[in-house]
Amino acid sequence: MRLSWRRSSRTEDRFETWITQQHQRRVLAGGTTPSGPCPDEGFIQNLARKSKNIALSDPRIDHAANCPKCMSRLLELRRKSRSSRQRAALAMAIAACALIAAAVVAIRYGIDRNASTTNTAVVAQTVNLWDSGTVRGEQPGQLESVSLPAALVRVTIVLPRHSAPGQYLVAVTRDQNGNGLVAEATAATVANGEQQEITTGLDLRKAAAGPYFLSTTHEQDQAAYYYPLQVK
Ligand SMILES: [Zn+2]
Repeated sequence: MRLSWRRSSRTEDRFETWITQQHQRRVLAGGTTPSGPCPDEGFIQNLARKSKNIALSDPRIDHAANCPKCMSRLLELRRKSRSSRQRAALAMAIAACALIAAAVVAIRYGIDRNASTTNTAVVAQTVNLWDSGTVRGEQPGQLESVSLPAALVRVTIVLPRHSAPGQYLVAVTRDQNGNGLVAEATAATVANGEQQEITTGLDLRKAAAGPYFLSTTHEQDQAAYYYPLQVK
């Protein structure tokens, strides 16, 4: 119902446009005789804008509709206003696209910034091995498992009782034979009461969550102690 109405209205529009164009062609070709003098430019401009202030009974309309000079001026003004409307629409579309692009860039920049903030955030962790066995050869399975986040970790390790002071190599490996090195760093012990502590940075950002081993090796001793480690 609605569709057919729309179709017929479109047919009517086309028919009216055709009549108008036929008439315009005839006027421009000088086939009509205008009555009265040409109205001023202001009136023609108002007419081109389809101003509601102009009464249909105004004799100047009748003149303009039949005068080749006024008609060509009218058509020119209509063409200009149409192209400026198109230009405005185009400018609006460009502005909208730019706005969308800016939003996309801003969102992406925000995500990147968030991602890099989380990635470069240093997580401070303390691993207390004070009560861990210090007898060489003791099975690491008997030791309490420690856990570290998959991040840039600033770890403070409280070394087991009776640990010697000095320089230590701290490493995170896949197994307890030192294979599959994930991160390593060296640091010197700092005495805290009777405890020996080492503080160092470990980059565990690329470590997948799972079981690993944390090892400490004294520079002179060379024997590595492995502790089960969970990266989370
Ligand atoms: Zn005229």
